Amino acid sequence: MAEVEPVSTNNKDDMQEEIPGVMTTSTSAISDFLKKTKAQDIINWGRKNSLWFTVNAMGCCGVELLSTGMAHYDTDRFGIIPRNSPRHADVLIISGYVTKKYFPALKRVWDQMPAPKWIIAFGDCAISGGPFYESYSTRQNIDEVFPVDIYVPGCPPRCEALIQAFYELQEKITAKKDKGTEY
Ligand code: SF4
Repeated sequence: MAEVEPVSTNNKDDMQEEIPGVMTTSTSAISDFLKKTKAQDIINWGRKNSLWFTVNAMGCCGVELLSTGMAHYDTDRFGIIPRNSPRHADVLIISGYVTKKYFPALKRVWDQMPAPKWIIAFGDCAISGGPFYESYSTRQNIDEVFPVDIYVPGCPPRCEALIQAFYELQEKITAKKDKGTEY
């Protein structure tokens, strides 16, 4: 994928003031970039840099999920932003155990999310049941119901592991070769 050329602001004719750490560009550079780049790459670029995730914290892993979205990790800088409405979200994070009572609500959240959409199974409980394996009240092996894209093992996994999962998801999106919404 072609890169947008940065524009030097050292030119005295240029009215823009140089700001350390800030790259400026021009509309002609953006226009060139769009002409040289395949539509699929632009679609992939847009999808991978706007991964808005649902906020449905479950179990102790849910606390790690909430921490990841807060100021210390500041995932907003990667376009990874929490959304409370499933209709605005791209990524469902199954964070912790899924009780049989909560399962229908989780399924409804997933069904209401528009495609393309992805799932991260975050924590041992989400992946296999974890310490609640074969418990009377929880669902096991959630990937038999949901099409999980990325698995993050741990009890609980750290926030850095969730950020790594988003990075892996971005790699998956970048590798897509057609415009479809199935991954
Ligand atoms: S994997 Fe561990 S930390 Fe996460 S919800 Fe299950 S018991 Fe809690």
